[in-house]
Amino acid sequence: MSTRKASTNMTASPRKANRRRFGRAQADHYIDTYKQVAKLHEPTYCSQCGATYGDGRWRWMPHPENAKPSLCPACHRINDRYPAGIVTLTGVGALKDEMVRLARNQEEAEKAEHPLNRIMAIDDTIDDRLEISTTDIHLPRRIGDALRRSYHGKVTEDFDEGNYFVRVTWHKEL
Ligand SMILES: [Zn+2]
Repeated sequence: MSTRKASTNMTASPRKANRRRFGRAQADHYIDTYKQVAKLHEPTYCSQCGATYGDGRWRWMPHPENAKPSLCPACHRINDRYPAGIVTLTGVGALKDEMVRLARNQEEAEKAEHPLNRIMAIDDTIDDRLEISTTDIHLPRRIGDALRRSYHGKVTEDFDEGNYFVRVTWHKEL
């Protein structure tokens, strides 16, 4: 079963200086160590999505012969249905489909550069509301910013650093 492993391996001192329980989640130094029990062998490749790990980061590139198979944190989270971010939109009205497309477009752009940043699921079953779960803490903020640019409304962002989790909300009065 899934356990919260997100904050292990995070003893490096620079993080202490930036310690914020609910702050902005945009900085690149927050590393998702979900289900990672030891330092990853380099190179490693994800046997589910094909991303390759080397030089301390995941990339979309063919893996070298000597790479070891494993699962990347994003695929672990997808398999466990255990998101690192949730965007909740309320007051979407007739814009629901358009907003789903906006979120997907943001995902495409983000994922091309950052293989671990993906949409996990979009729940559109409730009237006037969308809930988008993600595998990472960056994509929710990117989606929130895009929503604000396109539709205005009010965006909030809460980042729980200790649990590597971000919650973004967007709301507009009809
Ligand atoms: Zn993967």
